[in-house]
Amino acid sequence: NPATGRYTVSFIEGDGVGPEISKSVKEIFSAAKVPVDWEVCEVKPLLVNGVTTIPEPAVKSINKNLIALKGPLATPIGKGHRSMNLTLRKTFGLFANVRPARSVEGFKTTYSDVDLVLIRENTEGEYAGIEHVIVPGVVQSIKLITREASERVIRYAYEYCRAVGRPRLVVVHKSTIQRLADGLFVTVAKEMASEFPDIKLETELIDNTVLNVVSNPGQYTDAVSVCPNLYGDILSDLNSGLSAGSLGLTPSGNIGHKVSIFEAVHGSAPDIAGQNKANPTALLLSSVMMLNHMGLNEYADRIEKAVLSTIAAGPETRTGDLAGSASTSSFTAAVIGKL
Ligand code: NAD
Repeated sequence: NPATGRYTVSFIEGDGVGPEISKSVKEIFSAAKVPVDWEVCEVKPLLVNGVTTIPEPAVKSINKNLIALKGPLATPIGKGHRSMNLTLRKTFGLFANVRPARSVEGFKTTYSDVDLVLIRENTEGEYAGIEHVIVPGVVQSIKLITREASERVIRYAYEYCRAVGRPRLVVVHKSTIQRLADGLFVTVAKEMASEFPDIKLETELIDNTVLNVVSNPGQYTDAVSVCPNLYGDILSDLNSGLSAGSLGLTPSGNIGHKVSIFEAVHGSAPDIAGQNKANPTALLLSSVMMLNHMGLNEYADRIEKAVLSTIAAGPETRTGDLAGSASTSSFTAAVIGKL
């Protein structure tokens, strides 16, 4: 709203621990005086003509506000439902999944210098869902790569490099085997390189990437990586495992041409739901990515620093998943104290 300088953001609080971690984000945003007003959307999965569908009021809210923050959504089992996350991706054309993975100071893991950013193509590849039984015992599964989808995710990755000041773009592929499919992805990146003379393009076979990341993750701190869908799915969890030892701290952003949705990577944690035990960090760091995306960088930096220094302060202010004794609400209060 240009008159008030405030932004309205759609908020899908989600299932299980979703409402508890969402409450934490809302309280911290209020304390930090972030100029964001939330429009809470219910996203209970609907089956319309046998197809999983997002309720119309939520679709309207997100199309109006263009930005959403999302807690975890449980996928109903055995009712013919498709994953709600896949449905959201399709509904809003979210073509790029951005997954930063950074070591958390004060929380010891194998490496202390992980600072990786991976951008995953989010719409095609092996996830195109084209599979056939040719004859019993022989199946065919098709990996679809198009120039259009490759161009939009690779362009976004180049632009992301510029926006965050990382001078290298690493295209991760296996074009030695997938000559046409990954070959096209790599070709598109090379063709686009002349538009981004300030970014150094490198290509790397995925087997080399895996070896490099687990032996010395620090070598990618000045890079952004981009890759087709399935490689991105696997590599992004590897990166999270190296940085935090779990997915519990990992934020993500799903970027489309119009709409962007930011969300924690973890699920609804039904085993601890309603017990004031959940760690809100992943959703908080997703909200920090969201604020950076919106250009509200100063608010993002303040909240990020407060969250990370609360974790670094020791086990009394950490939640149980990080071997601490804090509850969701006492962690939240500690973050607000740091603000
Ligand atoms: P999960 O991530 O919910 O839980 C795995 C383990 O991690 C559990 O022990 C849980 O207690 C713990 N955990 C997760 N988030 C935590 C947090 N914030 N703080 C502390 N501990 C946390 O994975 P799951 O059990 O496989 O899935 C449960 C449900 O979530 C399923 O319905 C699944 O479909 C859904 N899911 C949703 C998303 C999403 O919306 N992005 C992602 C994955 C799973």
